[in-house]
Amino acid sequence: PAVPVGSILRAAVRRWGDRTAFVDHDVPLTYTELGARAHAVANWLADAGVGRGDVVAVHLPNCRQYPAVYYGVLLAGATFSPTNPLLPAADLAAQLTDAGARVLVTWDQVLPFARPALAATPVRTVVVTGEAHTLDLRARLELEAGEVDLADLLAGDPTDRHLDAAVDPAADLAHLAYTGGTTGVSKGVELPHRAVVTNVLQSACWSSGSLPELDEAGDVTLRQVLGRDEYPTALGEARLVNLTPWFHAMGAIGYLNGMVMAGTMTVVHRRFDPVRYVEDAVRHRVTLIGGAAPVFVALLQVPGIEDAGLGSHVRSVSSGAAPLPVPLIGRLQALLPDAVIGEGYGLTEVTMQATGNPVHRSGTRKPGSVGVPVFDTEISIQPLGGGAPLPAGERGEVCIRGPQVMRGYAHRPEATAEAIDPEGWFHTGDVGVLDEDGYLAIVDRTKDMLLHKGYNVFPRELEEVLFGVPGVAGAAVVGRPDEEAGELPVAYVVRRADDAGAALTAESVMAAVNGRVTPYKRLRDVVFIDAIPVSAAGKVLKRELAARERAAVP
Ligand code: ATP
Repeated sequence: PAVPVGSILRAAVRRWGDRTAFVDHDVPLTYTELGARAHAVANWLADAGVGRGDVVAVHLPNCRQYPAVYYGVLLAGATFSPTNPLLPAADLAAQLTDAGARVLVTWDQVLPFARPALAATPVRTVVVTGEAHTLDLRARLELEAGEVDLADLLAGDPTDRHLDAAVDPAADLAHLAYTGGTTGVSKGVELPHRAVVTNVLQSACWSSGSLPELDEAGDVTLRQVLGRDEYPTALGEARLVNLTPWFHAMGAIGYLNGMVMAGTMTVVHRRFDPVRYVEDAVRHRVTLIGGAAPVFVALLQVPGIEDAGLGSHVRSVSSGAAPLPVPLIGRLQALLPDAVIGEGYGLTEVTMQATGNPVHRSGTRKPGSVGVPVFDTEISIQPLGGGAPLPAGERGEVCIRGPQVMRGYAHRPEATAEAIDPEGWFHTGDVGVLDEDGYLAIVDRTKDMLLHKGYNVFPRELEEVLFGVPGVAGAAVVGRPDEEAGELPVAYVVRRADDAGAALTAESVMAAVNGRVTPYKRLRDVVFIDAIPVSAAGKVLKRELAARERAAVP
């Protein structure tokens, strides 16, 4: 759509006005207030000379201030570049330098760690917020010379000066997002306004079941989607306790923009704490739950979850960012009998989402698959070494084409040319297969694949079986280096807190799995662990487990 991202906020303020948008530590913020704060931030930035072409890095945990900062940056015409607030200082400095960030918005508690690293970066203005602002947006922070209190920005002119009118939605970057780096070096992904707005709409249509209308130019317009009756019935009056960091694609697109567009009330938590999550989910009678599968595993382990009554108000569960094993869907459905459980698939490089198993009642879901492409999106399966697209039923690399595909990696023309071919197909590095109805199943990531005696072993297939073993709460399979075989499949397993969990032994788990897989894929060892390490976005950190295995080799 030929509108800048700021239009999403303007439409939400008009439509949802005095409805509560965000609640943090029980302090609410309405849509009207959010609009005023965002414009105040935008106007301050513009007066400081920050606008089109400038990058503002946002180094914050989820907090009540975050959405105003996010939209403020975009309304000023500048580019939003999120960073994980837990990044070590050296990685932060490298990312800020790569991004060419001029302004950094950060959190008072992490500032002491970040400060020493900033001198070597292009950052010239540091804006600071913290817990004190969550409770009172006018509170003053104790800062060092040259640092700016976010309260000063928020107290400024709240009028809409339409600073983003000059933005070219097809060319100007809305987000400069960094890949999660779960498998390697973090790269900057360039996402123009058009990609971001389109993907917010694609995701909204996926979760609501409404189809976009096209304007004369064949483009979806925001007004057309927001004006449809179907949209609010799926998400409207929705209540959510947010589990997803807004610095990650799923957070920024699905759970910041998506929820603002739908008029949702979002309860903000800094980090995922399963017990506190369940308390707030019950207290606020949440209607939807969204996150990555490892988060659902942790929720199901919360003592007393069966009796918490979540089933009486949760109507939809949407999963993304990581595989959702079929046995886990069964467990979630037993807990939440009236909820529709859907799953989305995507990557930072396609803004967020490419396909989905619908989360609305009328859609057809195929558990174990990640569904069908969102509108205007094509999927093809191509041979890993290149060549003509493969027919349904054959495994190959998942390739994606659509308006949400990134422009490229920042300052990495070679990596861009490797990732996006001349026909516009983005090569994901995921192995997948399409069925006759066009549903996509993700087999695994090529980078997680193991090589055992020359055979490819996909850990995901073993994990799917492991999740079905009684007593197993969570599992991840990695390779153990072996001189003779190359790599041996080894499972890390978390026991359920019940008798079945206590009874598990390495032998019983191997027996349960190995009888169900072809011999070369058999597990060679099982390691019990208290919790599977996950990233901030809720993905299993395979590289940490793989590193343990490598370290154990003499
Ligand atoms: P990096 O790509 O830098 O290693 P990352 O994994 O955190 O880091 P993202 O862009 O957040 O980067 O994640 C994209 C990947 O997540 C996909 O390539 C895919 O492997 C995985 N993924 C996302 N959704 C699903 C899903 N529904 N099922 C299986 N895998 C998924």
